[in-house]
Amino acid sequence: SAKRQGRNHSLRFRPALDQQANPRLALVSDLREALVAGDQLELHYQTQHHPATGALTGMEALLRWRHPRDGMISPGEFIPLAERHGLMAELGAWVVENACAQQARWQHTAMPATTIWINISALQLFQGDLESQLAGCLKRYRLQASQIGLELTESVLLDERAGDMVPRLETLRERGAPLAVDDFGTGYSSLGYLKHLPVDKVKLDRAFIRELPESRADAAIVTAVLAMAEGMALDVVAEGVETEAQRQFLVDAGCRSVQGFYFARPLPAAELEARWAASPPNTSAHASASAGSS
Ligand code: C2E
Ligand code: MG
Ligand code: MG
Ligand code: MG
Repeated sequence: SAKRQGRNHSLRFRPALDQQANPRLALVSDLREALVAGDQLELHYQTQHHPATGALTGMEALLRWRHPRDGMISPGEFIPLAERHGLMAELGAWVVENACAQQARWQHTAMPATTIWINISALQLFQGDLESQLAGCLKRYRLQASQIGLELTESVLLDERAGDMVPRLETLRERGAPLAVDDFGTGYSSLGYLKHLPVDKVKLDRAFIRELPESRADAAIVTAVLAMAEGMALDVVAEGVETEAQRQFLVDAGCRSVQGFYFARPLPAAELEARWAASPPNTSAHASASAGSS
């Protein structure tokens, strides 16, 4: 009948219409599939270095999604989507699991021992069971708690609900997890909150690095943060270091750890391993050799 045809017609076309109306909804269902398929998601690793010697000081795991049709989609795009559509707990668990698995694999290779830092979403702290999940993974992969660090963005820590989070952070830290404040300086924060948080490290946002050394304001901010951190026995990682002039400024300012394209781009685990085998990045020669490459 005409009615039946009409219904079939609308059923058949509804998904397409929805996708046109909101392409993000299509992306959400693709992401749900990616979590099942497993092979579309991967972690890339960006090393952190002492700015003067190039010595390895840590590495950050950054999530990548290779969409089967659309190619690489940035975490800046799909993480907020996952958060809004109830997929963050699962995605976050995938990251914890896979970073631990990678750390365990590297125990038996020439890769040097260092902490792998992973990014933790607000929702994993507010709603999830990060403590037991992390503890389970560490145990299963026979890792020390110090081998997996947790980065929490400043905006999360300044969230009003963060009050309730402090005991949870304390639990994590008592169990040995290194904790870092990510994107430090981007919130409309007073520095006072740092005093109340059980953290080991701040990651100075690249907004303050970008215009170094020309910007006097940024130079003053970076210098002040380094002095404050020193006084509070906090480590500092400067993010987004791209140029020799930035590196030199940070050396002179006494910064002991930097992350950025100048030293290394985020790389798949296998590629990082290959580069490491070719030239261990513990000399400043490596720093200039890899600047601007890849
Ligand atoms: P983030 O944690 O602050 O990570 C640093 C970002 O800066 C990364 O972008 C990295 O590729 C980029 N970057 C590193 N060095 C440089 C540089 O020298 N210059 C410039 N312009 N950029 C640099 P990416 O990988 O696109 O990640 C963006 C954000 O997505 C991350 O910012 C983090 O907030 C979030 N994210 C990434 N992976 C995860 C994850 O596994 N879980 C969660 N919850 N969030 C993640
Ligand atoms: Mg981070
Ligand atoms: Mg960061
Ligand atoms: Mg950042």
